[in-house]
Amino acid sequence: MFDSLSERLSGIFDKLTRRGALSEADVNEAMREVRRALIEADVALDVVRSFTDKVRSRAVGAEVIRSVTPGQMVVKIVHDQLVEMLGSEAETIDLNAPAPVPIMMVGLQGSGKTTTTAKIARRLKERDKRKVLIASLDVRRPAAQEQLRVLGEQNGIDSLPIVAGQSPTDIATRALQAARLGGYDVVILDTAGRTHIDEPLMVEMADIKAIAKPHEILLVADSLTGQDAVNLARSFDERVGITGIVLTRTDGDGRGGAALSMRAVTGKPIKLLGTGEKSDALEDFHPGRIANRILGMGDIVSLVEKAAQNIDMEQAKKAAEKMRKGIFDLDDLAQQLRQMEKIGGMSGMLGMMPGVGKIKKQLEGANLDDRVIKRQVAIIGSMTKEERRNPDVLKASRKKRIASGSGTKVEDVNRLLKMHRQMADMMKAMGKQKGGGMLGKMMG
Ligand code: GDP
Repeated sequence: MFDSLSERLSGIFDKLTRRGALSEADVNEAMREVRRALIEADVALDVVRSFTDKVRSRAVGAEVIRSVTPGQMVVKIVHDQLVEMLGSEAETIDLNAPAPVPIMMVGLQGSGKTTTTAKIARRLKERDKRKVLIASLDVRRPAAQEQLRVLGEQNGIDSLPIVAGQSPTDIATRALQAARLGGYDVVILDTAGRTHIDEPLMVEMADIKAIAKPHEILLVADSLTGQDAVNLARSFDERVGITGIVLTRTDGDGRGGAALSMRAVTGKPIKLLGTGEKSDALEDFHPGRIANRILGMGDIVSLVEKAAQNIDMEQAKKAAEKMRKGIFDLDDLAQQLRQMEKIGGMSGMLGMMPGVGKIKKQLEGANLDDRVIKRQVAIIGSMTKEERRNPDVLKASRKKRIASGSGTKVEDVNRLLKMHRQMADMMKAMGKQKGGGMLGKMMG
């Protein structure tokens, strides 16, 4: 499904990764091409826009790790953003409810609802060892109930005996009762579809929902219908409420836009992919794996990840070594501040350290949010190397220069220096303890 998009993107990134240095213009040009490729893959327009905006701003702000090229860095950023767009974590069917757990399948006619009902039942039975009952609530299409019964039989799954003349809600009630009496873990209700969304369909779905109180409402949508599938998901969610999406016919030559836009547009996760007509043609939806499939650059992504880990380790080791000697200069402070930004500010960081209650209180009083941290990093960035190593040389005129260089006031510079002094004293005290103190042990 992602073949042509994947080809386009690898073309773009091949060019980019082969270069040594990248200008902002290079990145912009690449982003224009990515945008075009996504639009041609039928990804919703506003999803495309927000995607490329985020990639661009991350790419501009990113520090390039020494052992990778800027192009590789951009690939990694695009990859991470793709994963985020797809929902980050894989989400599967949630069975965390009292048995029998009711699952309701909804969707248009021909989307693959009945086939998917059987696929899910088979998977829950074989992989999760659950006892599953399936029931067709489709009284509109003459052969629908029989179709599900046959599918059940082929896969060794019990289906609710067919009783002619019952309404969908009657069947739902009977299915739940049978599931309870029969000791089933899960009961899957396959509802009727229409060729398009209409009011009676939505009313019927709402009625069934009210009676069955399903733990999961899964929308089955045909990936070949592209943006229509996305709009369908939005309508169903607004009217009935869905808990997840199953995209079918992903083995076909759809352009992938539906899969890529679904999550961002509806806020609901794609949980499963239908990958063929057979009853075992069902896959979990793993955002990370899908992103790899689309980018086709798994090697580069893991290269950058490894390099980033190494850098963190290197820095941490150096910092630990210095701390052991009781040294804590302004470079160290800047580095700590940058890390704090990553892990949720100063109180997040200090919360992880033992024995710093007093300083923590003082720092909290200083209101150290992200903005303050950024300002402090800017102040340190305006100092010379010598000043960072040895803050004692900072007299009034230098402080003035630093304040204007970082767009702050002399008081801000003083406040930062005071904080540094407190931390340096603390580090020194810890450094004197045997073995480098708690912090030394933590970091080493
Ligand atoms: P329903 O009307 O929504 O219940 O649709 P059905 O379950 O009857 O499916 C309609 C057709 O789509 C059948 O021929 C299925 O075999 C086929 N189908 C369902 N899911 C997939 C899929 O993931 N891939 C392919 N290639 N065909 C599928």
